[in-house]
Amino acid sequence: MLLKSREKSFELVQFEALRGRIVFSEEQERLYKYVTAGFMGECLCDEMAESMAERVIQLRDLLLASGGRTCQVDSLLVVAGKVYLLEIKNWEGSFEIVDGRFVGLSACPLAQLQRSKTILEHLLRRYGFHVEVEAQLLFINPKISLYGLTRQEPALLHHQIEPYFRSVGEGSFWDQWDRKIGEFLLQQHVPENRFANPVVYDPGTVQCGVMCAGCRVRMRPYDLLRLECPTCGTKELKRDCLGRTKAEFEALFANKPCSRHALHIWCDGLISRRMIYSQKVQESRF
Ligand SMILES: [Zn+2]
Repeated sequence: MLLKSREKSFELVQFEALRGRIVFSEEQERLYKYVTAGFMGECLCDEMAESMAERVIQLRDLLLASGGRTCQVDSLLVVAGKVYLLEIKNWEGSFEIVDGRFVGLSACPLAQLQRSKTILEHLLRRYGFHVEVEAQLLFINPKISLYGLTRQEPALLHHQIEPYFRSVGEGSFWDQWDRKIGEFLLQQHVPENRFANPVVYDPGTVQCGVMCAGCRVRMRPYDLLRLECPTCGTKELKRDCLGRTKAEFEALFANKPCSRHALHIWCDGLISRRMIYSQKVQESRF
C-alpha cells in the first residue's frame, strides 16, 4: 500500500521550466543532468517495486528529522514489523570500495546511508517503535562497476534489486502494526524547503513563450484552438499550454504575482487575453 508518492523536487521543476528559456552554463547543465538522472532512477526503482505494491507499506521521498539532524529517504518499506530504508543511485561508471568506503568521493554513499539509518532508528525509538531497520543502497543503473564490493556492504546492483524486493518480508503482507509505523513516519515527514537548493539564474535573461513539453522549443500558432511545435510537430490545445506555462511562471518567479496581464506577456501573446480571462486556468501544483 502506497502511503506517500514521489514528486519532482522544486529544483528539478525549476530546471525543467528554464530549459529552452535560458542557455545553461556548463555547471547548470551538469546539475540538471544529475538531478534528472536521480529522479529517473528513483522512478525506475518505484516501477520495480510495483511487484510488491500490495503486500508492503511504501513511502517515497521522505525528509525526516531527529536530534537536530535531517535525512532524505528515497524509499521506505514496512512489512512484518521491519523497516527497509532504501537509497537509490542512478550512477554509471567505475567505482572502487576499500574498507567499506568509496575511494575518491568526498561524500561516501555508504557513510551517508549509515547516517540516515542512525537518524531513522533514533526517531523510531524516541516514539516507542522498537523495530529493526535494514538499510540498502540500490544501484539502479546497469552501467556501473563497483570494484571491491563484498557481501559486507549493504549495496545491491541492478540485477539484484528485483530478487531483493521479492525477498523483502519473505512473502508477508502488511498488518496494522506495519501501517501504524508507516503512518507515524508519514506524520514525521518535513515538507521540502523549496529554497534549500535554489537554481541560480538571472531572471532578466529568461525568455517568455510557450515551450513544447517534449523538445522545449517555442511553439507557434496552428489554428484557433491549438499551438504547434515547429520541431516535433506536436499540436496542443491552447488551454493545456496555458496551464503548464502558468506553472512554469510560478516556479521561476516566486515573488512576482501571476496576473492575467503578466500571463499574457509570458505566453508571448500566443494565447488571447480573452482565453486567459474567460477560462479557468488549470490549477497548477504551486
Ligand atoms: Zn516539440
